[in-house]
Amino acid sequence: MNQRPRCWYYRNEEFDCLKKGGSRCFAVDGENQYHAIFGDGPCHIVHPSSLAVPAVALGARFRIVGPAGEREVKAEEYYQMPDKNLFGETVLAPNELLTHMILPAPGSVKSATYDVRYKQSHDWPLASAAVALDMNGGTVRGARIVLGSVAPIPWRSEAAERALRSPAPSRCRRTNTRFRSRARP
Ligand SMILES: Cc1cc2nc3c(=O)[nH]c(=O)nc-3n(C[C@H](O)[C@H](O)[C@H](O)COP(=O)(O)OP(=O)(O)OC[C@H]3O[C@@H](n4cnc5c(N)ncnc54)[C@H](O)[C@@H]3O)c2cc1C
Ligand code: SF4
Repeated sequence: MNQRPRCWYYRNEEFDCLKKGGSRCFAVDGENQYHAIFGDGPCHIVHPSSLAVPAVALGARFRIVGPAGEREVKAEEYYQMPDKNLFGETVLAPNELLTHMILPAPGSVKSATYDVRYKQSHDWPLASAAVALDMNGGTVRGARIVLGSVAPIPWRSEAAERALRSPAPSRCRRTNTRFRSRARP
């Protein structure tokens, strides 16, 4: 949940990039095929944790303990964009620890995650999605769709959430297992 970025410029001591206090982001004109496609910079990392993506989709809360005591934040507010926090990725202050992830009871929520990987094992996803649908019979009452490995934070796709909420979803004709939204009349 608190892994530092995997950007190869960040990990390589020869590149003194923006995130390390340097003057430029080497990913902008460099090898950036695994960097962010959403979010505007100035640093273009993708968020590294697989678990954080479903945590945000499920509406988890994180408990933080530090010298000033305990506090809880929503998972989606825990991760911060580089324009807010260039030198870190979360709201954790120095000397604070993340101690708990608290998940709400599922109730009528159905959820699933999906990863696309280059290799089948021992690899990070090239892209991932976590979906949590609050179902009322055959109708989507609420939807949270979060994309991973595409932005500096687990990235909520509000447009996709709206599209699923509007019409009643239908079964996918190809697999008969997944929901797809029906075309608008
Ligand atoms: C081959 C390979 C494949 C991998 N694939 C994936 C993948 O698909 N998805 C994925 O998510 N990860 C993947 N990882 C990364 C791996 O899961 C991380 O190394 C792991 O999540 C970090 O756990 P750790 O115990 O090693 O962390 P540590 O090195 O102990 O910590 C990682 C970071 O978190 C901080 N930290 C640790 N505990 C706390 C705490 N309680 N509160 C606040 N900060 C804390 C540390 O300071 C450090 O910055 C992969 C790693 C390898 C080597
Ligand atoms: S994406 Fe961020 S971490 Fe990577 S080179 Fe650019 S500023 Fe540094």
